Parts: sequence; structure tokens; C-alpha cells
Amino acid sequence: MSEQRRPKILMIYTGGTIGMKENPVTKALEPFDFNHLLDNVPKLKKLDYDISHHQFRTPIDSSDMNPEHWSHIVRVIADNYEVYDGFVVLHGTDTMAYTASALSFMLQRLSKPVIITGSQLPIGEVRTDGEENLITALQIAAARDSDGKPMVREVAILFENYLWRGNRSTKKSADNFDAFRSNNYPHLAKIGLDITFNKDVLWRGTVFGEPLDVHYAMDTNVVYLDLFPGIQENIIRSVLNIEGLKGVVMKTFGAGNGPSDPWFGEAIRDAVNRGLVIMNITQCANGEVDPYRYMSGLELAQTGVVPGHDLTSEAAITKLMYLFGCDMKAEQVKKYMQTDLCGEMS
Ligand code: ASP
Repeated sequence: MSEQRRPKILMIYTGGTIGMKENPVTKALEPFDFNHLLDNVPKLKKLDYDISHHQFRTPIDSSDMNPEHWSHIVRVIADNYEVYDGFVVLHGTDTMAYTASALSFMLQRLSKPVIITGSQLPIGEVRTDGEENLITALQIAAARDSDGKPMVREVAILFENYLWRGNRSTKKSADNFDAFRSNNYPHLAKIGLDITFNKDVLWRGTVFGEPLDVHYAMDTNVVYLDLFPGIQENIIRSVLNIEGLKGVVMKTFGAGNGPSDPWFGEAIRDAVNRGLVIMNITQCANGEVDPYRYMSGLELAQTGVVPGHDLTSEAAITKLMYLFGCDMKAEQVKKYMQTDLCGEMS
């Protein structure tokens, strides 16, 4: 693209605190429309960008986000992919890491920026973090490398002072402006006086200009099974026997360990033999599952539980939905759950 052309950015407004207003009666924050948001960021006009927007008919609190909404976002990006240089998705923080992970899988061979941002305080509030986040997200979506290609060619979360890989991110604080972290992967950019990209860690797995490979179907026959000392056999067995269940993200202790009670191993083995895909994901914020470090982890691996390495739990559950959504059989899903598709695992 020539250096003179103004960057063309599409903003997709889904809702979230950034566009919310206080209900005068209940005092609770409620989603509001996009014009309210634009009215509160007059600085947007100072950016010499060609900005268009698409908004959800009814903006939502991201606690209501679901795979149909993800498909909606994906469709808007796919329909406009050739026309725009980059995309900024405005989204609530609560499920932002799930959406970022899901979009990264649904938008295979992405080579343009999809920058997701939001805020902890509504844009209309004096101390809002929304204005900075929105403007920085737009600047990142417009950023080019020395060849004029997009600097960021992946789904990323911009929040406060950092840009994080979307499928490596986790919400770490309910009330801090610095609300996201990627515990097992470095930041993609640091926001200070300038935006400093960490060029060596940006995703370059797709050749720029390759056609986007879009997937809409997500299979939600999946569940989290969070272990804790004292968890009972009947509880584990009833989770593993849920009708229609295909995939389980089992959140284990430390390096991927679980109880050594014989009933536990038997329940897991039964489920694996019935064709369930059970992923081993650590409950720890950082580090990875190493099934060979302890006997208790090794036993799980021997029952057929799949080591999830350093996947976040958000990436693990959305990747299962994506792979089953592609109509894959359990064996294929197990293989791809251990293969890096778009920078989600080391
Ligand atoms: N509940 C809000 C949401 O996720 C929180 C936020 O946006 O920060 O939509």
C-alpha cells in the first residue's frame, strides 16, 4: 500500500463497560449505543484515518458473549477483509480473552490486525481508561512495517500499557486499569511515549496477502473440570457422563497433576475409552503441564489425557470448540490440540 493512503479501519462495537452508562434508577452500568461512545472521544477526529463502524444491534455486557456473537464478529471481518487495513473490536473485559482466543482460531491465515480493546471505566467518566485504549488500538491497527505491510497480523488485546497476543491472554484484574496479562508469552508491544513493538515475537506464520480461511461453527459440547482436594468420585463421574459431551478441559494441580485414588484414574480412563478428549491444563497462572515430572501426572498421561502444554484455559476451551466445530474426530482433535495453529502454544 502506498504511504500516502490513509489507513482504513473498521471498528466493531459489541458493548462492554467502555460504552456503558449508569442507569439513573438502579445505578448499575448498562450497555449504550455507539454514538454515545463517539461523542465522548472527540480526539478520534484528529486521527487522519478513514474509520467506519459496525455495531451489534443490541450492545451487550460481555458476560452474555457466546459463539453466535463470535460468528457475527468473524462474518463482519470476513465480509470487509479486503477493504480495510485493520479491525478494532470494542468488547467488555470479562470474556475478552475468550473472544480473542476464539477469533484467532476462527480466522485462520489472518494477516491483518484484529485489535480487541475495552475499558474498566465507561468512556463518559472523567477518569476513563477507554479513550486512551481506543485511540491506541486504532493506532496499532493502522501501524505498518517498513515494507508497508501491517505490523500486527493476528488477534491481539490492547489494554493500558501493553499489547498481548489474544490467544495467550487472561483477565487478571477486576478493578485495575492494567487488567490483562499473557503469562507464558511476552507482550507484543509496550505503550509508553511511543508504541514499541516487540518485533521478534509478532506472529508471522501467515504469508501476507494469503486468503483468509474463515470458520463459523463452534461446538459447545465441552466443559471445564476444575480439580480440588476432596473432589468426589460421583461429581467427577457425573461431569464426564454429561450427554453429548465431547471435550473436557481438566484444570489440574501444578505441572499437571491429579489425585492418585484408583477411582479417579478409572473414571478418567472410562471417559477416554468412550471417546472423550480430556485436556490437561494447569491451574497455575504460568508455566506448563509436564506430565513426566511427577507420578501423578504420568498416570494421567497414561490414561490418555492430552497434555495441554502452556495453553491458557481460555485458549484450550475455545480450541476444542473450534476443532470439534470443524467436524473432527477425537483422534484428530487430540493431534491438533498439541499442534500450534496460530501462536497459542510454545
Ligand atoms: N461486565 C463488563 C463486560 O465485560 C466488564 C467490562 O467491560 O470491563 O462487558
